[in-house]
Amino acid sequence: MTGGRKWEVERDFIDRYQPSNMKKTKVLVTGSGGFIGSHLVSYLKDNGYWVRGVDLKYPEYTPTRADEFEIMDLRRWDNALLAMRDIDEVYALAADMGGMGFISCHHSEILHNNALINLHTLEAARLQNVKRYLYTSSACVYPEYKQLETNIAPLKEDDAYPAMPQDAYGWEKLIAEQLCMHYHRDYGMNTHIVRFHNIFGPLGTWVGGREKSPAALCRKIAVAKLTNNPRIDIWGDGEQTRSFCYIDDCVEGLYKLMQSDFHEPLNLGQDRMVSINQLADMIADIAGYPIEKNHISGPEGVRGRNSDNTLLRKVLRWEPKISLENGLQRTYSWIEGLVSERLVKNSDQEKTIDELKTSHIYAVSCK
Ligand code: NAD
Repeated sequence: MTGGRKWEVERDFIDRYQPSNMKKTKVLVTGSGGFIGSHLVSYLKDNGYWVRGVDLKYPEYTPTRADEFEIMDLRRWDNALLAMRDIDEVYALAADMGGMGFISCHHSEILHNNALINLHTLEAARLQNVKRYLYTSSACVYPEYKQLETNIAPLKEDDAYPAMPQDAYGWEKLIAEQLCMHYHRDYGMNTHIVRFHNIFGPLGTWVGGREKSPAALCRKIAVAKLTNNPRIDIWGDGEQTRSFCYIDDCVEGLYKLMQSDFHEPLNLGQDRMVSINQLADMIADIAGYPIEKNHISGPEGVRGRNSDNTLLRKVLRWEPKISLENGLQRTYSWIEGLVSERLVKNSDQEKTIDELKTSHIYAVSCK
């Protein structure tokens, strides 16, 4: 055998049997057609994992980087079992969800759909001997009575009880958290639970009614700028407060939590609280276009919310670091590009502008 031919045979042998290939961890990301899921798939690919994505739809704004992507409805038990085949780790992100405009008025669908997804996904993972499981919960689990003022104390993980979440969305998340903790105690399953506080960034829902406040405000301000009409609608008096965490920090935190041995709920968010009016002003500054705020009635959610990151820092020895200004800059320029594209493409300008200025699902089905 010549040297070249021998090397080809050896190369082929190494490619097929080298330990690193054989040991490649196989990860399932449910909800990988969505915002956080599609970013997480990219992060895991960059870190050498084999990834299967599952969702009702493909990602809307970028091709998936998953090794396999299966269109599946995880409300069905048979699909949940199938999705778990040969999988080592599961990031459970699939959910019927959206911003305040959606979750404040679709309680039955949200509770029904997400309860089925969560019950099936976790039990299927147990039966298929999945080694690590991470469930994505929300700051919406925190009780309304701790969030009645704009200037409230940041919420610690223990504050979730006695429970009184605002919407069905929060109750459903709380039940799924309990389920994960019981599976850890009863079956020794390696479950993890994250509570997100308003994750934002490019490739997130920005129009149609399921978008959250940073994307909705970026869209409204881009329309204002591109049509030279400074008036934008804001739900409520705009003094309601929140904290916002950029997507790159979110996926890094998720990954770190999955590697940890911590099994209780953990906040993942920024602990810098701003009002919706301040958020709008920051985006207007980035756009370089002064706005006029028109305060209208609409679903505002709780009056104030912020993340206490004490436990996050202790458990992960890490916390989100990308500034709100930096994250908004990247998000605004992505959304301004999409708004401009849509304004150029659609011949009925008035109708398009109208659609982009309002939150469609809320306007159509919730008033
Ligand atoms: P997203 O809506 O962009 O992604 C969720 C994905 O789940 C969607 O692509 C959707 O099609 C998919 N899905 C819905 N029903 C399904 C079903 N029956 N079977 C399979 N897939 C289904 O939302 P996101 O912002 O990426 O959120 C991911 C997770 O994080 C969700 O569980 C959400 O509740 C949670 N979360 C997000 C935030 C945030 O600020 N984005 C805050 C708190 C919690």
